[in-house]
Amino acid sequence: MQYEEVLAKQWDLVIIGAGPGGMGAALYASRADLATLVVEKQYAGGLIMLTHEVENYPCIDKASGMDLGMKLEQQCRKFGTEFLLKEVRRVDRSGAGFAVTLADGKSVSTATVVIASGSAPRRLPCPGEQEFYGKGVSYCATCDGAFFRDKEVVVVGGGESAFQEGLFLTQFASKVTLVHRREGFRATELAIRRARANAKWHEKLNYVVEEIYGDETMQGVKLKHAQTGEIEDFPCDGIFGFIGYDPASASVSHLVETDEEGYVVGDLNMRTSVHGIWVAGDILKGAKKQMVISAGNGATAAMDIREYLAERD
Ligand SMILES: Cc1cc2nc3c(=O)[nH]c(=O)nc-3n(C[C@H](O)[C@H](O)[C@H](O)COP(=O)(O)OP(=O)(O)OC[C@H]3O[C@@H](n4cnc5c(N)ncnc54)[C@H](O)[C@@H]3O)c2cc1C
Repeated sequence: MQYEEVLAKQWDLVIIGAGPGGMGAALYASRADLATLVVEKQYAGGLIMLTHEVENYPCIDKASGMDLGMKLEQQCRKFGTEFLLKEVRRVDRSGAGFAVTLADGKSVSTATVVIASGSAPRRLPCPGEQEFYGKGVSYCATCDGAFFRDKEVVVVGGGESAFQEGLFLTQFASKVTLVHRREGFRATELAIRRARANAKWHEKLNYVVEEIYGDETMQGVKLKHAQTGEIEDFPCDGIFGFIGYDPASASVSHLVETDEEGYVVGDLNMRTSVHGIWVAGDILKGAKKQMVISAGNGATAAMDIREYLAERD
């Protein structure tokens, strides 16, 4: 569909974000014959495209995140979902529905909206992060791991991503050191056990990254002991941050209820505080951030939207 046609059409629903949440909604909505537009600012697939391997999606033994993301997009297109590669800047009420304003100032008109814009990796809060971003600092092992063949890298965080992605990095790096601010982890026992069984895996617990330094490229980090405050020089070639995520709710936070961090409040049917707007996936307040849950949220929202539109008509 040409861009002008997308702008001229009256959509049943516009979905913000083409991650598993958005595409879960799109699949159910377009299969129910609703005029469905997914607006995505980067690429279809969302965060799952950053992971090398998914082995906890029901009925899929093992697949790369990229493969799953691409298959989901194809499946949505098969049932008539339209995709638009643009950033959503703002959503406003317009008549009985909504106007979704895009980065170029143009807007699309829709009866309902699904917010499925997920969250973005939190940047490491220390001097040198910006300077060495892309020159040693990364947030995606799948994208950048191969640049660190036979090099030494640091992985920051204590959750599932830090362990899973850190273990993936051992395929390339000669040494992977996990730096975490305390001794307890949020990661599962399985992920911890697998990482610790690898000879290239090392840990520095009770440390925070104080600074990233180098010249043309990164040369190392300064680590600060969380209790004693002692600073230690730690030479390394790269650093991967997995310290959490910030919700991408800027385009809707003036309209729907969010919590203090910016996560969107939704009920069991994924309805938000605004009649006609639903939420799905990682951006939902209190969500367990997993692909199967996001896709399920999207399906729930689409089914509820179908009933809502049928009653309205
Ligand atoms: C390293 C890593 C490993 C993971 N491993 C697993 C795993 O093994 N199993 C599992 O189940 N889950 C895993 N996850 C979690 C899983 O990726 C997420 O739970 C899932 O992707 C969330 O889907 P979502 O659609 O809610 O959000 P996202 O996947 O974040 O998608 C949101 C989309 O919205 C887009 N967007 C944001 N703002 C706008 C805007 N203003 N306009 C237009 N588009 C916008 C973004 O570009 C993005 O494509 C992993 C995550 C990471 C980071």
